[in-house]
Amino acid sequence: MLRIMRKIEHIGIAVKDLEVSNLVFEKLFGASAYKHEEVESEGVSTSFFKSGPNKIELLAATNPESPIAKFLEKKGEGIHHIAFDVEDITAEIARLKEEGFIVLNDVPKKGADNKLVAFLHPKSTNGVLIELCQEIK
Ligand code: ZN
Repeated sequence: MLRIMRKIEHIGIAVKDLEVSNLVFEKLFGASAYKHEEVESEGVSTSFFKSGPNKIELLAATNPESPIAKFLEKKGEGIHHIAFDVEDITAEIARLKEEGFIVLNDVPKKGADNKLVAFLHPKSTNGVLIELCQEIK
């Protein structure tokens, strides 16, 4: 049987200033970000940090229309989403829609860190934005 939502892949944190927050998380983890990546289609600039087997993604907006800019405006800095690793994102999207969840993008899109991603609307998940991600092989 297909294993679903295998583990938390990373936690996304919305930040106002990526440079400033990179320094904070460098101090916190005693190590620099292992990756910086811009996802222009999403209007985000990201940094990835590792804490043992766990990953933290910092997200800053690259333009005022970015979903991150809107999030910061509404809620301020803080946890933005929880991402789960899935084996087959297309199957997961279909399953979750069937279960009544609101999927923000029916077709998986290319996200940061070599992943195909899809998001579930927080309205359908008790206020938490959930990201599904499947590694691109
Ligand atoms: Zn993410």
